[in-house]
Amino acid sequence: MVRMAVLPIVTGGKNPVLRVKTKKVPKVTRDIKKLLKDMTDTMHAADGIGLAAPQVGSQHRVCIATIGGRLTALINPEITWRSTLTDTAEEGCLSLPNVWMDVTRPTEIDIKYWNEEGQEEERHLVYMDARVVQHEVDHLDGILIIDHVKKPPVASHVHDAKRLA
Ligand SMILES: [Zn+2]
Repeated sequence: MVRMAVLPIVTGGKNPVLRVKTKKVPKVTRDIKKLLKDMTDTMHAADGIGLAAPQVGSQHRVCIATIGGRLTALINPEITWRSTLTDTAEEGCLSLPNVWMDVTRPTEIDIKYWNEEGQEEERHLVYMDARVVQHEVDHLDGILIIDHVKKPPVASHVHDAKRLA
């Protein structure tokens, strides 16, 4: 049987643990892989679609996100390009229980990150995939959805409510 490790999720918009700008991981160690495994168990238990290290009290620049239906580990992720076209959708956050907000974000992004083998990967993401990754990378920079000033939607499509991470 696989050992589950569900960690407590750090909550609160004023919690300093969630306001830290995380540090890049110099190497994908056993501890980082364990962290990613524990984050995966924690995310599944909380029924989220992504989770960032600060949400379990870690200051490593590491997150997990559901991309194209597959849970993907993103180590040292950076957004290298953002579309000028934006999209507005309601987001929730596992660290802000009962908060739901319309958040306007670029519709498309390019990201680069390391995979669990420490190899650099680059991807172009759109719509929900782009949204969840931007939400997680925000966490790694100490930013929460409540920091996004509410703006009227630019595009006409507002998606259904979806709890992110
Ligand atoms: Zn969140």
